[in-house]
Amino acid sequence: MKVVIIGGVAGGATAAARIRRLDEQAEIVVFERSGFISYANCGLPYYIGGTIEDENDLTLQTPESFWKRFRVKMNVHHEATAIHPDSKTVTVKNLENGKILTESYDKLVLSPGAKPIKPGFDGIDSDKIFALRTVEDTLRLKKYTDEHHPKSAVVVGGGFIGIEVAENLRELGIDVTLVEAADQLMAPFDRDMASFIHAEIRKNSIHLMLDTMVEGFADTDCGIDVKLKSAPTLHTDMIVMAIGVAPETTLAKEAGLELGIKSSIVVNDKMETSIPDIYAVGDAVQIKNFVTDTDTLISLAGPANKQGRIAADNICGGDSHYTGGQGSSVIKIFDMTAAATGINEKTAKSLGIATDKVILSPMSHAGYYPGGKMMTMKVLLEKESYRILGAQIVGFDGVDKRIDVLATAIRAGIKAYELTELDLAYAPPYSSAKDPVNMAGY
Ligand code: FAD
Repeated sequence: MKVVIIGGVAGGATAAARIRRLDEQAEIVVFERSGFISYANCGLPYYIGGTIEDENDLTLQTPESFWKRFRVKMNVHHEATAIHPDSKTVTVKNLENGKILTESYDKLVLSPGAKPIKPGFDGIDSDKIFALRTVEDTLRLKKYTDEHHPKSAVVVGGGFIGIEVAENLRELGIDVTLVEAADQLMAPFDRDMASFIHAEIRKNSIHLMLDTMVEGFADTDCGIDVKLKSAPTLHTDMIVMAIGVAPETTLAKEAGLELGIKSSIVVNDKMETSIPDIYAVGDAVQIKNFVTDTDTLISLAGPANKQGRIAADNICGGDSHYTGGQGSSVIKIFDMTAAATGINEKTAKSLGIATDKVILSPMSHAGYYPGGKMMTMKVLLEKESYRILGAQIVGFDGVDKRIDVLATAIRAGIKAYELTELDLAYAPPYSSAKDPVNMAGY
């Protein structure tokens, strides 16, 4: 069996490694457009701020190490430019020498990810505007801050990437303005919970502009102007665009694969696309929301890795199924941690789900033991059934573990009142005899 994989990072590299573990004889060939495979997308912002100091730490594997360990041929700087389902071949361009090659496959896996949204604004192609997706993007941004020592930066977009970049630029001593079109940062959170995030951002001297639309950019002799719809023009030294991502599916579209939300690739729960022997995984695919059973897009590393493994299982004759995503996520915002799982109140309302909620502010561990920090927790439940729909937590200690317990509770179908029964580990440095998750149940 010959398997060709397009995209050699989260979903693609996982699929490749898993196929090898299941089939020692398969020929596995991966094409990756960038110069790196299996890189740590999620660590990229921390290289900018210097928390991750060595650029080599951003790449978990090299083509050589992948070959040595898995006998998988990783071709970097190779872009797949067309898929031909009739002849079961892929056209690939070697970006180093321009040569075009044709590769045949028995099974094809698409894991091309999602690309940063680039609006058609005036001035968008300025070399003072950056986006963050690949290692190359990160090195370019880092080179700019190292060589030009910008005093100010505007980050456009207040989601995960925008906030992480804003924090890391601030860590470099840069005066950062964060511009967001909505009335809150971090869409997975309701506004009441996002207000804690706003406070932490402001406390760390980032200028926060909510309800503010960017309209265009203009290079100047000594920087770049950011034109705003309802506020005076900002002048800055550099800009990072982080207004969201869109599935990268031009190839899939041209090959005639069925597409869904925002041109994402439609797959079934075995990660099979609408064309036989073509699988797709990761940010490029439409999946089911585990809580609402509606179609959705979730651009996170956990789902991409799981889906890569499931596609591999099925390619190798197994019977694995993806049961949906619930968008469990966590972010560091200076000293604060903010985490969410499942759906929020806004989403529940838009779907007409009758909800109830508890909001509580427990300590991260026993109050009498030094160092306990208060967290704020919002747990959303369905009114009649007591089914847990989602949770959001902001705080300074122990947030990640509580959100993971709640994410597990959602997955297991535990009712809100049954949270009282969870037998969770306790000693004073870590929790209270009644853990915050138990308290939410009470
Ligand atoms: P990717 O990992 O993006 O890989 C797709 C690859 O396909 C790319 O390298 C691209 O170059 C290549 N490609 C595309 N088209 C072609 C083609 N035609 N030919 C050849 N190659 C092609 N998720 C979290 O859960 N937690 C986090 O903290 C987090 N932080 C993030 C921070 C940043 C800065 C970024 C950019 C993402 C972050 N994510 C995070 C999201 C996470 O990285 C993605 O959800 C995950 O990598 C998606 O996996 P994927 O395989 O679908 O796509």
